[in-house]
Amino acid sequence: MRHDAIIIGGSFAGLSAAMQLARANRPVCVVDTGKPRNRFAATSHGFFGQDGMPPPKMLAQARDKVAAYTSVRFVDTEATEADADDDGYAVTLASGERLRARKLVLAFGLNDGLPAIPGVAERWGETVLHCPYCHGYEFLNRPLGVLSVIPLSTHQAALIPEWGPTTFFLNGGEMPDAETRARLAARNVTIEPEPIVRLEGEAPKLAGIRLADGRLVEIAALYLAPRTSFQSPIAEQLGCALVDGPLGPVIRTDAMKMTNVAGVYAAGDIARPMHNATLASADGVLAGSAVHQALVFEPVRR
Ligand SMILES: Cc1cc2nc3c(=O)[nH]c(=O)nc-3n(C[C@H](O)[C@H](O)[C@H](O)COP(=O)(O)OP(=O)(O)OC[C@H]3O[C@@H](n4cnc5c(N)ncnc54)[C@H](O)[C@@H]3O)c2cc1C
Repeated sequence: MRHDAIIIGGSFAGLSAAMQLARANRPVCVVDTGKPRNRFAATSHGFFGQDGMPPPKMLAQARDKVAAYTSVRFVDTEATEADADDDGYAVTLASGERLRARKLVLAFGLNDGLPAIPGVAERWGETVLHCPYCHGYEFLNRPLGVLSVIPLSTHQAALIPEWGPTTFFLNGGEMPDAETRARLAARNVTIEPEPIVRLEGEAPKLAGIRLADGRLVEIAALYLAPRTSFQSPIAEQLGCALVDGPLGPVIRTDAMKMTNVAGVYAAGDIARPMHNATLASADGVLAGSAVHQALVFEPVRR
């Protein structure tokens, strides 16, 4: 069957795009592997009207709402390839089945590359975190840490004291310059140069950071900047232009989320430098309505 649009990724961005197209009664297929980026967190915070909800519950409710529209089809599998065909795009599924559509929305999200420090991975999303707006209030006034991973980590170290007294762990890395040290001192940040051996405590709880010299620095949560990568190579396969984001590459789009490849749109974390479920959802709304208007107003090639 030929759809008007195929949406690759059925999470905050993809479901929001699907809703716009569903409400215009357009045949849409959402292809999804069910691995939203925040699946490691027990609760999600800051989303309009849904603060404190478990991510799977939020997404299940959103999907049910979209599925109520009869023009929407869900396929729970991986989209492995996408390429241009006569009048649009063909998407190959893991089963080998090929789906066709006039427009594509890429909403396949990011993977987080975590530093290979023992104890980090099993605490990701609970006490090892990337965003204090998402997961900061829960640790209010408790001792906190920031791991130096990228140059922007110094900004994170200066921000986190808003939630609790902060230690900036250099993990044996380079000491910040005098100006940055002064900025951190003004925020009462303690700089800890010693290499880290492991995170300690009964995971996912965190008791503290064990250092190479044997000391344990007690903290309740550690913030770090993950290195991000796309969950799927499909944007590169299609020739979508990328730009450097602070954590990894993002797909370049115009204000209505169209990429440089005609008829291909990108929404959510893969298409913006700042990552947040609300922003991903807003991106999906933009992409879905832009796709719809293109379907209405663009001439159909015969
Ligand atoms: C630990 C953690 C906690 C977070 N907590 C919060 C929070 O509290 N509040 C907040 O606002 N934000 C939070 N975020 C950020 C939030 O998770 C993201 O901004 C949001 O999930 C982005 O939505 P998205 O739709 O762009 O991508 P995702 O939610 O990552 O969804 C991408 C979807 O595409 C699917 N997919 C990928 N590849 C394919 C493929 N080839 N074929 C088919 N399907 C595919 C995936 O399975 C997934 O369902 C958190 C992030 C992390 C890492």
